[in-house]
Amino acid sequence: MSTGHDTTHRLFVKAIQHEGISCGRDGCPGTVDAIDQSQTRDRIKTFELHCESCGWRSRVTGQEQLAPPWDNAALELMADEHLLHQQPVCPFDDTPVVFISMPNPRRKAKYRVACFYCGRQTEMEWPPPESKR
Ligand SMILES: [Zn+2]
Ligand SMILES: [Zn+2]
Repeated sequence: MSTGHDTTHRLFVKAIQHEGISCGRDGCPGTVDAIDQSQTRDRIKTFELHCESCGWRSRVTGQEQLAPPWDNAALELMADEHLLHQQPVCPFDDTPVVFISMPNPRRKAKYRVACFYCGRQTEMEWPPPESKR
């Protein structure tokens, strides 16, 4: 595990993955709570961080950057990793992406892929047409 102060991005990644965040400010042994402040429609998540032991409070939020969009190679890689039960990350900012399964009238699986740090989102049929599996 890393020591010292986490960068904002590290904190964001830990919060989105529900990983424990240890406080460590001035040797504080506390654990930081991360509360998701986002609305369901938000492309970018905001977390309120709070250490109950020392009262430290902060807030981490993504940095919206929608261009350039993910290209097919990036999507294919993320789909492959998802298929292998690994955690795909956004190639632009290394944030774990989320696969959200969506209702599809054609009874084929459909996913929305979302990075809640940069706000990129896309929808893909499942399995992706480029994938030969
Ligand atoms: Zn603390
Ligand atoms: Zn991203």
